[in-house]
Amino acid sequence: NPRLYSGMQPSADSLQLGNYLGALSPWKRLQEDHDAFFSVVDLHAITVPQDPSTLREKIRRTAAQYIAGGISPDKSTLYVQSHVPAHTELAWILNTITGFGEAGRMTQFKDKSSRYGTDAASVGLFAYPVLMAADILLYQTEVVPVGDDQRQHIELTRDLADRFNSRFGETFTIPEARIGGNEARIYDLQNPTSKMSKSGESPAGIIWVLDDPKVNAKKIMRAVTDADGVVAFDRENKPGVSNLLSIFSGLSGRTVEDITAAYDGQGYGAFKKDLAELVADTLGPVREHANELMADPAELDRLLARNAQRANEVAEATLDTVYDRIGLLRRA
Ligand code: ATP
Ligand code: MG
Repeated sequence: NPRLYSGMQPSADSLQLGNYLGALSPWKRLQEDHDAFFSVVDLHAITVPQDPSTLREKIRRTAAQYIAGGISPDKSTLYVQSHVPAHTELAWILNTITGFGEAGRMTQFKDKSSRYGTDAASVGLFAYPVLMAADILLYQTEVVPVGDDQRQHIELTRDLADRFNSRFGETFTIPEARIGGNEARIYDLQNPTSKMSKSGESPAGIIWVLDDPKVNAKKIMRAVTDADGVVAFDRENKPGVSNLLSIFSGLSGRTVEDITAAYDGQGYGAFKKDLAELVADTLGPVREHANELMADPAELDRLLARNAQRANEVAEATLDTVYDRIGLLRRA
């Protein structure tokens, strides 16, 4: 089976709906016919300030949501990034072949650093995409299922793999991004031109996977739309309604055309009500299952340790080759 890698940051108490639609649901399908590695990327999360007293909990909660969302820790390798030291070791080596200007062109860095101010933005945040490249390349990954916002980082990963291979000899598989349709970019419900994000500051605009289903339903009912009252997809002129259509389509598996036809002439009320129900019905069971898993953190930790062992074996093999290629002494 083709090798697959992806991950999410434990940067909040819960995943948000965009993570669920753009990443977790595709992962669940793809794990059936891929050799999949799913990582909780804690070392990425600390590129912006995290509270040490709650980070551990967020790491476990993220892992629990992977499982509750359908990732099987028996079929797939589900582990915590910092448990596999090869990630940071390879990242350092890739740093040495990454251009300063090249890294500076990453739009996620520009977005996030402008939020924190250039002095508060860390070198770690700047180097984030290089660590991500290391994550992917360590596993000789062929397929990387991510949301649309990660397109540029995958492009950089491919460039770095290609550069390393041509300088030092064939070492890395060149990975392909697997990016979904409309559901690969979900927008904030109150500000439907900016991406829904775990680190966003929009209490009413973010749907949290682990939130009370009633609260989530209410947020859908209050989502920003427009005055023309027609359920139609038009990203330019109707960003709010288009976003709700993406969510509806992603959760139901129905096409946008099918949904717009079904609500033809009905206005937004009925459409929102059905969507609110769909969101609550989909995320409710995920929340319950995640809470069950969180009730036994020791078992969760054992599972993560077991999976990290497998990840370490694969990662170490690649790192050995890398050390050899660049002329470092092989480690004993
Ligand atoms: P943060 O704000 O801390 O960066 P995030 O919500 O962007 O958090 P990440 O952990 O950075 O989440 O990304 C995890 C996965 O979710 C990635 O594959 C990313 O592309 C995807 N993703 C994130 N936000 C969205 C979104 N709004 N729509 C679709 N996919 C998304
Ligand atoms: Mg992000």
